[in-house]
Amino acid sequence: MTSNRRMFLRQASSLGAGVLIAGSLPQREIHAAIQRTAAGPVVIASANGVGAVTRAMEMIRSGSDALEAVIAGVNLVEDDPKDHSVGYGGLPNEDGVVELDSAVMHGPTHRGGAVAALRNIKNPSKVARVVMERTDHVLLVGEGALRFAKAHGFKEEDLLTDEAREIWLRWKETMSTQDDRLPPHNEHTGAEEVGEFRVPERRAREVNPQQAAGLVPFSRLTGTIHCSGIDANGNISCVTTTSGLAYKVPGRVGDSPILGAGLFVDNDVGAAGSTGRGEANLVNCSSVMIVEYMRQGKSPEQACLDACTRIVDHNRMRRLKDADGRPNFDVKFYALNKRGETGAAGIFSGGTYALHDGKEVKLVPMAYLYKRPTAK
Ligand code: ASP
Repeated sequence: MTSNRRMFLRQASSLGAGVLIAGSLPQREIHAAIQRTAAGPVVIASANGVGAVTRAMEMIRSGSDALEAVIAGVNLVEDDPKDHSVGYGGLPNEDGVVELDSAVMHGPTHRGGAVAALRNIKNPSKVARVVMERTDHVLLVGEGALRFAKAHGFKEEDLLTDEAREIWLRWKETMSTQDDRLPPHNEHTGAEEVGEFRVPERRAREVNPQQAAGLVPFSRLTGTIHCSGIDANGNISCVTTTSGLAYKVPGRVGDSPILGAGLFVDNDVGAAGSTGRGEANLVNCSSVMIVEYMRQGKSPEQACLDACTRIVDHNRMRRLKDADGRPNFDVKFYALNKRGETGAAGIFSGGTYALHDGKEVKLVPMAYLYKRPTAK
């Protein structure tokens, strides 16, 4: 069987196109059928990615591969000093140093590249791509990632803007008793010895320019951009890039640069990515699960909801629950399938995602498990 034929049969079955008998179609018809089943270009991103999906779609229309396009899209946000959750201007770790995480995944070749805890380089998504292209590895971290980036011509620069430094300084001055370290717990029972101790609320974070400007409490700073796209050839790729959890323990790596957790693509099925509490994704491998749920025939939205449910079901530590037993954090998922259908879901209500469906850009409300509790 030719690889085209194999691909068509796989596509046809994943798209529910009915049973095909191998050998029954001439090459020409197989090719035509692939063209018919392949979706038109589509790009999705987290809500901070309206500009990113617009740029990515422009590039796809002018012939770019989906990976090139989605990286160019998120570069806009990495370069934006006003976005305190990604790249230049991102909020720093507890020592006041910006550390970035990013990963890319290329559907047609099923390759990935990633960097974590990378300092001083504004576009970690570009470095992640070079890791994919120019090494036999997938993930480089810290000092090694920086040396690799410099060897490939990336320029070092100070990523801490005055605005981000002042936000961090206010945190140091007012909230630095709430860090991410935990006292010991009973290693046999898993019981938390600390009674009512709870993770600081700032872990349940959400992008809000007012927060960044210091107009509302620091307790909910969040970010990250995920972007997935299908190009004119029906190929799927994705990227996730972030400055991670604000005021994190230096060296902390979230879900964003971890393939399977913060993003995943299977070119025959679809792509998924996430924003929100990375630790919850790292212990649930959510993005690969979403792709697998779609392979089973679930819609992108249902697959994202199932990933949220999986996190809730596994969320056993008291410090990570609210008074009603629900998570005291949020995670959001974004997915598209090979047909170009898209969907997203969060644990809590109120989220939207950016969609360019080939005709227009819009922010689409996402599904959710629970209504977000109103502030008291
Ligand atoms: N998922 C990212 C991380 O945990 C942060 C976020 O999306 O808010 O590093």
